[in-house]
Amino acid sequence: MIDTLRLTAYEAAKLLRERQITGAELWEAYRRAIDERDGELHCFLHVCDDPGGDGLPLAVKDVIGTKGIPTTAGSKILEGYVPVYDATVVRKAKEEHGLRVLGKTNTDEFAMGSSTENSAYGPSRNPWDPTRVPGGSGGGSAAAVSAGLTPWALGSDTGGSIKQPSALCGNVGLRPTYGTVSRYGAVAFASSLDQIGPVAKTVTDCAFLYSVIAGRDACDSTTVELPEAIRMPERVDLKGLRIGIPTEFTEHDAIQPGIRDLVHRTIELARELGAEVGECSLPLSLDYGLPCYYLIAPAEASSNLARYDGVRYGRRSASADRLEMYTRTRDEGFGDEPKRRILIGTYALSAGYYDAYYGQAQKVRTMLIREHAAAFEQFDVLLTPTSPTVAFELGAKTADPMAMYVNDLLTIPSCMAGLPGLNVPAGLVDGLPVGVQLIGPQFSENRLFETGYALEQAIGFDFVPERYR
Ligand code: GLN
Repeated sequence: MIDTLRLTAYEAAKLLRERQITGAELWEAYRRAIDERDGELHCFLHVCDDPGGDGLPLAVKDVIGTKGIPTTAGSKILEGYVPVYDATVVRKAKEEHGLRVLGKTNTDEFAMGSSTENSAYGPSRNPWDPTRVPGGSGGGSAAAVSAGLTPWALGSDTGGSIKQPSALCGNVGLRPTYGTVSRYGAVAFASSLDQIGPVAKTVTDCAFLYSVIAGRDACDSTTVELPEAIRMPERVDLKGLRIGIPTEFTEHDAIQPGIRDLVHRTIELARELGAEVGECSLPLSLDYGLPCYYLIAPAEASSNLARYDGVRYGRRSASADRLEMYTRTRDEGFGDEPKRRILIGTYALSAGYYDAYYGQAQKVRTMLIREHAAAFEQFDVLLTPTSPTVAFELGAKTADPMAMYVNDLLTIPSCMAGLPGLNVPAGLVDGLPVGVQLIGPQFSENRLFETGYALEQAIGFDFVPERYR
């Protein structure tokens, strides 16, 4: 029997290599797990047939285009859309590593949200407690990994959509340095922020999946070659590493007390592993990160979402004339959150307000970049909580968009600065996973994996949700 709840991608690859299991058996095991548990969790919007071969299965967030496989971005406006080509990340996974797309995972509509409750196809649920959300927008990917429905998954992160769900579901998730992973073939939300990245059970699996998808792509001019190859982490100590603790992030009022304690315990552990730990300060990031993001991201979204007009992709609402067809398609096809952001973004970009809002937000963004750069003159890695709270009950924040936005308070600033961030599970509070976020300078993924690996080994977090053990 293959225990998909415990099996890591690394171990599965080894079993396949040693011919202890076949590719078909492995696929079958995940399909069985999906049949058993996804009725309750709703991680998948689409499950694929086995394309054959011996590669590992891979779940793909539904904002990433997959040839011949429906891609909806969690939106009714893309219902029925089947891409004619693979996103570069999917092509690389298939062609260069033989990975097989297992299915498409649920997401907040156009990746706008923090709980998957904005998905037009209904929310996903947290495998640790199905009355609670798995986080978002990539809650489907994160929940699928922790419920053993896939060895690993691809997510996308604009302001926290890999890091935050990974924290709430007890996964390791990387938001890569902006520009290291191709966005070609991904549904665009906010192009200066969007990055595709891996979600996995362990740091090693996460590092491996990152090495599969990273690198320059001629189809995405914002990509660059990695300055160094991705190494599988091995060291179990942190000697010589300087870790900075931005106190505004660890001591903020919005942070649940139990999470604060666990973060302090993790900091203590890092010290015991040999790291030099010191305090630092990122005051602008915390005060202006969120408001700045909620101008820039909607501004870019309003422009990116203009392409959904009933002509080029997916849904078209019937009507007598063309203008009415456009407007009805958009009115009926988009849910409340994309509409809210299109309105905010269009307003912020309008001629009379451009300088006051969008222009000003860009200046603030530069200040956030500088503030992080200054911290990295003294420290190699910054450590903060990933999410201010553990997974919350379904429905708890749906009536109040502002309450929902605050989930991303801690993940957004480094995204604005284009920096990589790794979520590593730190333990449980009230039986629910808590993650720490490790932030490094651009292209410091190897260092983040090494730091995360040493912590992971010392923490010994059991990634199988208690109710499945
Ligand atoms: N929750 C944030 C938002 O709603 C971030 C989403 C994301 O990273 N895609 O915009």
